[in-house]
Amino acid sequence: MAQQGKILVFVDLPEGALDETGRGLLSYAARLSQIAGFPWEVAVPAEPDDAARRDFARYGTPAVTVLAEGAGLIDTPAHLAAALASLVQAQGGGILLLPHNDLGGTVAPVAAARLSAALMTETVSVKQVEAGLELYRQILGVRLSEARCWQGETPLVITVPTRRLSQVLMATVKEVTPAYSTFIPAESGSATARVLGRIPPDPQTVDLTEAEVIFSAGKGCDEATFSQLQELCRLLNVSCGVTRPVYDLGWTGFERMVGQTGRTVTPRLYLALGISGSMHHVGGIKDSRLIVSVNSDAKAPIFPNSDEGYVADLKEILPRLIDRARSVAGGAL
Ligand SMILES: Cc1cc2nc3c(=O)[nH]c(=O)nc-3n(C[C@H](O)[C@H](O)[C@H](O)COP(=O)(O)OP(=O)(O)OC[C@H]3O[C@@H](n4cnc5c(N)ncnc54)[C@H](O)[C@@H]3O)c2cc1C
Repeated sequence: MAQQGKILVFVDLPEGALDETGRGLLSYAARLSQIAGFPWEVAVPAEPDDAARRDFARYGTPAVTVLAEGAGLIDTPAHLAAALASLVQAQGGGILLLPHNDLGGTVAPVAAARLSAALMTETVSVKQVEAGLELYRQILGVRLSEARCWQGETPLVITVPTRRLSQVLMATVKEVTPAYSTFIPAESGSATARVLGRIPPDPQTVDLTEAEVIFSAGKGCDEATFSQLQELCRLLNVSCGVTRPVYDLGWTGFERMVGQTGRTVTPRLYLALGISGSMHHVGGIKDSRLIVSVNSDAKAPIFPNSDEGYVADLKEILPRLIDRARSVAGGAL
């Protein structure tokens, strides 16, 4: 491959510590390094705390560069992009890896333009082929998969959907003591745009393909238990989905229907309540990180398709879940 250099992964450190996304990125970078054959390093916008340093060591992070004045860079994506682009150049090119969240999604195209780099957003998988690296991304929600080949003629900027990041440590990763250094980015002029605040999406209205946690109702719900489920979703601030028979009853709009003809979803947690587990439904949820199901029939096909399954009657457990959710929220909701 023509391109040399390193994989530089940008990891935000909310309050100095690594969060789930950060640990997922470290795991992703270690795997990408093995696939691409490039060494990898991390850039952070703040001095890591002790817990973050332990995580860097556990995930086999070879080197960590602290961006000087990095805290200010987080709210000026153009400056952060310029700093990361100059760090990539200083490292001799290669790959810049970012999470596909509001920050990474904003920084990636600006950094790519500065580096005259190839850009691949929402990358879900990568493999080495003879011509270079083949990268796959999901487009139109998660309805289509697109493959592109990077032959290494220019640097490459990649973003990875945060829901696709796994914190699981690879068996082949060995604990190391990272080398720490500081990078002082060149002056980038005045910022054209500054982030004033970040407003998280409302789980009640967010597109289900983007939802982090989904509780879904099947035909095992009657009108009373369905409204209890909606209440539970409101209390816990999670998104509500339905199967086709529930949609057919007219209780929700089509955009809430999950499955082959509805939305294909990839949440961190999918809770299936009173859902039998037909292939038309399971086909739309199988890439969820954790599937938990509740059904009164121990032989329901949803169970072999679940990570955890509970044989229970929704009429009994939903009121208890609501009580529990209220007590956890301290009655404030
Ligand atoms: C071309 C085509 C496309 C389709 N696309 C989709 C799609 O996109 N999405 C989709 O969902 N379906 C789709 N379907 C329909 C699909 O085949 C199933 O009919 C549907 O998914 C079943 O929905 P369900 O699990 O809610 O209902 P059911 O299959 O009726 O299952 C209800 C479950 O609830 C359990 N139950 C009952 N009472 C209780 C209780 N009190 N407590 C706990 N559990 C209880 C039962 O044991 C049962 O397992 C499609 C069908 C076709 C032909």
